[in-house]
Amino acid sequence: MAEKVSKSTTQVGGQRKEKLEEGNELSGKVAAEGTDLQGSGDLPEGAVGSRENGELKMDFELLPFEIVRGDRMEPFIFKFQFKNVEYSSGRNKTFLCFLVDSQQGYVEDELQRGYLEDEHLGPHAEEAFFQQVLPDYNPSRRYQVTWYVSSSPCAACTAKLVEILQARQTVHLTIYSARLFMWEEAEIQEGLKALAAAGCKLRMMKPLDFIYTWDTFVENDDQTFTPWEDCQENYEYYQEKLADILQ
Ligand SMILES: [Zn+2]
Repeated sequence: MAEKVSKSTTQVGGQRKEKLEEGNELSGKVAAEGTDLQGSGDLPEGAVGSRENGELKMDFELLPFEIVRGDRMEPFIFKFQFKNVEYSSGRNKTFLCFLVDSQQGYVEDELQRGYLEDEHLGPHAEEAFFQQVLPDYNPSRRYQVTWYVSSSPCAACTAKLVEILQARQTVHLTIYSARLFMWEEAEIQEGLKALAAAGCKLRMMKPLDFIYTWDTFVENDDQTFTPWEDCQENYEYYQEKLADILQ
């Protein structure tokens, strides 16, 4: 794109413009690096303060290379990571799509939307959500939080979520999971039960939820998503397991 512009302007003394553009690009990079250094060096808390500089920058400064936060994910990532197969080999990270609707009285709602991806090196996506997307809590606000996750939370995350929901009574969390994570484990089952008891609504993703997630959180280029052939069947399988655990 930039090349095209400079070529077409060469005839009218575009050389200078070309250089200017290169210069801008360079100084942009330098500026970004400079901010990074600042953020990870002298100002560990500075990331929060520089929110107006762009949220992406803030996230990378807080947790370099461990959590990815984005607006919409690549289609092939969604199709692989959210596939509701029974055995999830190769899918060793969690993708968490979120919608937050927070309201205070009659003031217009604040909406947030995006996704988080963890690497299982640092905090899991569930915990990262409360560090990055909803770090502050105001008890006079009501928070309607909806997650679409590639797999249900691990035992450690369920414990953390229970703690958070108990401390933040006006946060209402609904989790739609594509798959149940290690649901045979007693620890996991206890965790999910405790989470439900803390007021979290736990659901498995139906074919329609996969379509919704595709439409809302994937770079879909206006393409429609057709659920996998066994999507409904797998949903029913997991739904039954979840119902057994929560009964
Ligand atoms: Zn976890």
